[in-house]
Amino acid sequence: MYRTANEYYKEKFGCKVYKLSLDGGFTCPNRDGSISTGGCIFCSALGGGEFAERGTDIPTQLELAKKRVENKIKSGKYIAYFQSFTNTYGSVDRLRALFTAALAPEDIVGLNIGTRPDCLPDEVVSLLKELNAIKPITVELGLQTASDQVADYINRGYKTEVYKEAVRKLKAAGLEVITHIIIGLPADDPAATTRYAVDCGTDGVKFHLLHILKNTRLATEYEVGRVQALSIEEYAQGLRNCLSQLPPHIVVHRITGDGAKRDLIAPLWSADKKKTLNYLNAYLQKG
Ligand code: SF4
Repeated sequence: MYRTANEYYKEKFGCKVYKLSLDGGFTCPNRDGSISTGGCIFCSALGGGEFAERGTDIPTQLELAKKRVENKIKSGKYIAYFQSFTNTYGSVDRLRALFTAALAPEDIVGLNIGTRPDCLPDEVVSLLKELNAIKPITVELGLQTASDQVADYINRGYKTEVYKEAVRKLKAAGLEVITHIIIGLPADDPAATTRYAVDCGTDGVKFHLLHILKNTRLATEYEVGRVQALSIEEYAQGLRNCLSQLPPHIVVHRITGDGAKRDLIAPLWSADKKKTLNYLNAYLQKG
């Protein structure tokens, strides 16, 4: 049906691999005023890092994150995942210190770094290339949509061609790329975005449902009726269309995202993650 992250990691690392979400204390140029102060309209106060450990040094965060998953994990290795905000938005020295600390433990087999395509200057790409020679580094890019019009509406703060150039640079440096795509943005075509990401050379994708969260500008858009929440059937259909764009080698790391339940306004069906995944998997199997 599609290549799952579990299958891929088993091939790559020879065992099951779990992600440990970390917080490097970054902010985002789309929030701190460099690009804008508002942020993307769907972005929560935690910058997408609802499940990340916070407020301590990296070795402590890793231990805390391992404790959180220890009852699920019988054996396996970990990928350290810098998830919140823009994790290449800092000096090379700072990035080097954080990423090196995250890669140091023996049971950490790789590093995933979530960032914006406009926050990848050459010296940062060189650093990632250097670290990639030690353990595999994957860069996760928040594209969300390939439509510049929709990107303007969500206040993404960069043009789609910036993403294309970032993927080119990252691939030229031998790095793996995962692209985040949202299903459910108004007047958007996520299947076209998926095709675009594949054409640009992404190695993997993460699909996210558009969650409407409290205290976001999207919540206001929803209240005044400019944005509708998808039904689970609509999401499943959109997801299937996106998956149909993927050649077999592309890894699907997520078929839906997690919103923090306490902040979720809509769609409420998505709060039950297990039920949602069961529904989506059954829907996709129907073909
Ligand atoms: S780029 Fe990421 S962290 Fe920054 S405002 Fe957008 S979603 Fe939030």
